[in-house]
Amino acid sequence: MKLIIGKPLGFCFGVKRAIDELEKALKKYGSIYALGSPIHNEEEVKRLKSLGLRLVESVEELPSQSIVFIRAHGTTPEVLKQAKYKGCTIIDGTCPSVKNAQEKARLLSEEGYEVVIVGDPNHPEVQSIKGCVSAYASVINSSKDVATFPNKDKIGVVSQTTQEEGALLSVVSALVPKARELRVYNTICKATLHRQEAVRKLAADTEGVIVIGGHNSTNTAKLVEVAKREGCDVLWIANPQEIDESWLYGKHIIGIAAGASTPDWLIKEVISLLSRR
Ligand code: SF4
Repeated sequence: MKLIIGKPLGFCFGVKRAIDELEKALKKYGSIYALGSPIHNEEEVKRLKSLGLRLVESVEELPSQSIVFIRAHGTTPEVLKQAKYKGCTIIDGTCPSVKNAQEKARLLSEEGYEVVIVGDPNHPEVQSIKGCVSAYASVINSSKDVATFPNKDKIGVVSQTTQEEGALLSVVSALVPKARELRVYNTICKATLHRQEAVRKLAADTEGVIVIGGHNSTNTAKLVEVAKREGCDVLWIANPQEIDESWLYGKHIIGIAAGASTPDWLIKEVISLLSRR
């Protein structure tokens, strides 16, 4: 069996930077609280927990004076304020690209634009962007949702960093008749786009693509979606144990892709297992 490894694959610079910071802090302090899972990959979370990471879902659960890690998706200024009020030390792993989206949304709001965030309303990153806007911000996931959006003088748009460009374009086109002035910041992260391009190429060059990544990872789900849309046979696995023998049967050329939250060690395990076949 021939394996073609997608390029790029695995950790993006934002996640790598955040996990490196977290590991350094774990070595220094021994025990650290993360507000929400630091990464959408259960295998990596298990590893970090073994080094002293503790997970909490809200500021109320944080012990006072504790060390708190903010994940790459970021958090709201309000949450940071509450954590500081409890005397916590903040280790900020927010990705610079997410900070950029937060900042653009804040600027648009300050300049009187009705802010629209194109993305998944339940995603922590979108909530962190929304939290940076002092006035109300709407979250729109698809152009269909624009039908009920009221007409406004000024509409300002930013995007969740992991959106597909096509989704942002279709929402922006649908918003054109709704505003006298429309300002758009394309805050989609190139790391995501490059991984989507890589999986598109693998879909064309192979008989099937294995996508490695947590089942709770949005960017991994997007890779699966993109490959399927290309008509490719896709197997989504979170770990080597999920490799399905019946899926492999009869395939001679397989592509390997991995989401931006999939650690290198996990990708290596999968490749090494498949290479021995
Ligand atoms: S996908 Fe992009 S925005 Fe998200 S953490 Fe990675 S580098 Fe940052």
